[in-house]
Parts: sequence; C-alpha cells; structure tokens
Amino acid sequence: CGIVGYIGEKEAFPIIVNGLKRLEYRGYDSAGVALFNGTLTNYKKKGKVADLEHAVVNKNLSGTIGIGHTRWATHGEPSDDNAHPHSSMNGIFSIVHNGIIENYARLKNDLIKHGYSFQSETDTEVLANLIEFFYNQDESMTSEGAVQLALSKVVGAYGIAVLCKKENDKIVVARKGSPLVVGLGNGEYFIASDASPIVEFTSQVIYLNDEDIAILQKDGFTLKNVQNNPVSLKVSNLDLEI
Ligand code: GLU
Repeated sequence: CGIVGYIGEKEAFPIIVNGLKRLEYRGYDSAGVALFNGTLTNYKKKGKVADLEHAVVNKNLSGTIGIGHTRWATHGEPSDDNAHPHSSMNGIFSIVHNGIIENYARLKNDLIKHGYSFQSETDTEVLANLIEFFYNQDESMTSEGAVQLALSKVVGAYGIAVLCKKENDKIVVARKGSPLVVGLGNGEYFIASDASPIVEFTSQVIYLNDEDIAILQKDGFTLKNVQNNPVSLKVSNLDLEI
C-alpha cells in the first residue's frame, strides 16, 4: 500500500515513520520499518503506525538507511508476521512491497524444493527469498543483480524497496504497475509511493517508470531497467505541479 525510504546522514527512523503517517490516508492494516542499525533489523506490527511506534520504544532505532511500509493485505490476513518488511530466510535481505505477485504459488513451490521455508502467507516473502536465492547462486552477484533476476521471474505488479545486509550502503528500488517516486536531496535520497512524504524535504523528484530499477547510495544513484539497459533520467519539480 504505502512505501517510504531514506538514505543519507540523518536518522532514518523518524523520517520514515512521519512519511508513513502522511500515507495513512490510503488506508492500511499494519506497518513496519527495516533499518541498518549495526545489523539489518525489521520492526513491524499489525495496526496503526502509532502502534508500531509503541512497540519499538527501547529498541535500537539508530541508523541512516531504512525502508518502511504500510500494508493493505492481499495475501495473508493482517498480522505481525504478514506485515512488511519481509526478511529472506537467511536474513540477507529485507523488502517492502506494494502490489501482487500473481505467480507466487509456483515460485514458492520451487523455492521450497530448494530448501527455503516461510514465516508468512504473503506473496512478498516469496520475492524476498527469490532474491536471496539468486544472490547465493554466484559469488560475484550484487544485490541489484539478484533483484533484476528475481523480477524477471515475476508476473504481477510491484513497487519494492530492498535492503541487503551484505551491501549496507544502498537501497535498491524497482517498480512495475505500482508507483514509486525518488526525492533528490543534498547527499540524501527519499523514496515513497507518492510524493506526499517527500514534499517537506525536496521538490526535485524522479518518477520511476515501469520496469525501472534504481540503486541509491548516499553519494549518487544509478537508474536502469530490469533488463539491465540504461534509462534516460527526467527530474520533475514538485513546485511546478498543480
Ligand atoms: N501483496 C502484499 C501483501 O499482501 C502487499 C500488499 C500491499 O500492497 O500493501 O502483503
């Protein structure tokens, strides 16, 4: 339903939580955040963003890179386990996802045959494990390479943001049929499923097109498509939009 992410010098958690609150108007049943806070940690809770905030009091929320989600359940009832972010089985990836992976049942069966197990009923966890599966196939694989391979197997709609524990300086985002906006700050980037969480920070944005994949790092970003072709970049100015 809603996605927010941040990479830069500031504390990510408050920026993400406030962004998720700006997306509350869309309706949702659970909320969660994944952060690099020394390791890669998911915090998630059925209920409102405020319920998530109560649940994480006293937790280690420091970190300058993170992703967050408000979920509108399509596969699996609203619950803490089904809330996003979802981890891959070995904890290498955390992902948030808007949309529906239509061929998730077949992909899930294939992954089970390869020894994968699942903590949730969601289609999203299948994508998390598929990304990890490709990442582990090849020593030289990058997280964005694994995301590209996984998305090439997916039928359906997605806006995703992905963190990889072994590449803890980046966020990988991609979309098809589900909107994603990247906000360009000064040494920082914002991501969101619509511009409302971004407007208070920057007016320079890039609207991702279908099958675009963006790799965001503090000091720059790369935009290409899922087929690994370069993509021309169009920066829009939110101030000029009516
Ligand atoms: N299909 C996913 C789920 O049920 C994502 C739903 C959403 O867009 O919030 O968890």
